[in-house]
Amino acid sequence: MLNGYAGRILVVKLQMGKIFQQEINSEFCKNYIGGKGFAVKILLERTEASMDPLSQDSILIFAVGPMNASLVPGSNRLGAFFKSPLTGIWGESYCGGQIATQFKQAGFDVMVISGKSEKPVYILIDDGTVSIKDAAHLWGKDSFETQDTIIADYGKEYQVAAIGPAGENLVKFACIDHSKGRQFGRCGAGALMGSKNLKAIAVRGTKKYEPANIKLVEEVRKKVLTEVKEKHKTLSTYGTPGLLPLINEAGALPTYYWSEKPIEEYEKISPELLKSNYYKHRRSCYGCSIACCQTSETQDELHIKSEGPEYETLYAFGPLCGIFDLDSIIKLGDMCDKLGMDVISAGNTVAFAVECYRRGILGKEDFEGIEPKFGDPKLAVDLIFKIAYRRGLGNILAEGVRKGAQLIGRRAEEFAVHVKGLEPPGYDPRALKGMALAYAVSSRGACHLRHMAYRPNLTGKHPFRPDIRVNRFSYEEQPPMVKEQEDFYTLVDSMIYCHFLCLPVAGPILWDEMLRAFNGVTGFNMEMTTFVECAVRINDLVRIYNLREGVPPDTEFPVVWVSQKLKRRGADGELVEAKKLSQMLTEYYKLRGWSLQGKPRDIS
Ligand code: SF4
Repeated sequence: MLNGYAGRILVVKLQMGKIFQQEINSEFCKNYIGGKGFAVKILLERTEASMDPLSQDSILIFAVGPMNASLVPGSNRLGAFFKSPLTGIWGESYCGGQIATQFKQAGFDVMVISGKSEKPVYILIDDGTVSIKDAAHLWGKDSFETQDTIIADYGKEYQVAAIGPAGENLVKFACIDHSKGRQFGRCGAGALMGSKNLKAIAVRGTKKYEPANIKLVEEVRKKVLTEVKEKHKTLSTYGTPGLLPLINEAGALPTYYWSEKPIEEYEKISPELLKSNYYKHRRSCYGCSIACCQTSETQDELHIKSEGPEYETLYAFGPLCGIFDLDSIIKLGDMCDKLGMDVISAGNTVAFAVECYRRGILGKEDFEGIEPKFGDPKLAVDLIFKIAYRRGLGNILAEGVRKGAQLIGRRAEEFAVHVKGLEPPGYDPRALKGMALAYAVSSRGACHLRHMAYRPNLTGKHPFRPDIRVNRFSYEEQPPMVKEQEDFYTLVDSMIYCHFLCLPVAGPILWDEMLRAFNGVTGFNMEMTTFVECAVRINDLVRIYNLREGVPPDTEFPVVWVSQKLKRRGADGELVEAKKLSQMLTEYYKLRGWSLQGKPRDIS
């Protein structure tokens, strides 16, 4: 009997139509915690090096952790883990909503999907009974229609995650949508499902889990419920766009495809305007009182109702594309959700295409007669559609910025902004030096969530010791902070919690609460040092996986970030000094106990 775990891995081999279960033991749980920890071990052991991420040999893992289906708010995320078709290295993305709880309550910790079905199918999980269903009638539908159809057939108690046309057409940054607006967004898990002819998964579960120590879990739950009202007021009121003013004031808001320029029409996309004119309802994931997800409605004649926009949608289709019109940004986000594409990569790819035209690398003929310019939502709509269906220039852009630039040629690679093939989120590292290091070492490339290094850099407070001031322009202070944040969020992603319940400084769940919650649910009574060792072990394994797959060096950084100084209030004259970045890397490797080349001891 394992407290906190279902104790079972579900294996689905699509090629043969085989479904079976495997047990996990307490040693595995103690060493790898859950979620991300389980997944990296499985991915390393069950796949060959250098495998094509879209081949039949590739596997897609969905996993929960010991906290899922507990009563602690924020314990509601399902993780997807895979070799990314976009980057060719470690891929992970997480989705809130209701699906993780149903999955755990169906009696599983992990699902490993392998092979390729001959025909389109979806997986139906009904309280431990699993079947593979024909999806011929769903293929070609967008992700929202697919979810509606499955729910109409089986009932509202089923939670569905589905791909849209972008996933079917193997767009390298295709996402998986759940609950019409939540995504497994980054790294292209949607393309992996498309390559397997897997349109959706639908889950229903009713099993209940008793914590080993209800008193400990209840303490954490009460702390969260008491503190979030005050500490997360901005998140509850504005959602993630509430961060926009802070990022803008710091000069860290990327504009016009990572140019040096300031934002010109901030007030047209401000969170205050969103709240007063666009937000209609708040939505929540399972058991969370913050309810940070907003549903918006456009003010134009279309009255499009859509979940969001999140900060990342706002940045990627807003200032990055030079668009300062909330109706258009909401519409573009909605299009991406339905077609099934990651908004960060999509916005970056559209802006990159305009930048290529501006620099004479692409011509008007590549855009089929449209004069490309920043600030044109019609062009963005056209390109998003072409990417999803791989038409014209869209067929090249569907490969993402790195591969797209290689295919375009003519010096396009010089202007392509990505880290290890992943397009960056909305935090300009020239204004936040912690993000420079965090992007460089992050296992999935330009990522903001595996460390959340932008927060201490923006607030000026150390994530775990708020009395220590953080200087966002200092290179020296960043390595120990980034390392500690990575270790902490590795556990968050293994447990699996929502990051917004574990915010730097604010928490309310930080190191102590996290350990108490883990011990309360599992009854393992683990010491803090052992808990941290688990984080280090999991991080090292992800690094080993990436090295096995031929990850590019951490020093490979976008040219504009190291050569073009910002001309923005809040960060005027700032860039990332390549030499200082190398020094931060050396310090970071030392702290991790890795070799000078960044290799964990096991393989150096
Ligand atoms: S804070 Fe927001 S994203 Fe996180 S669990 Fe609550 S509602 Fe979901």
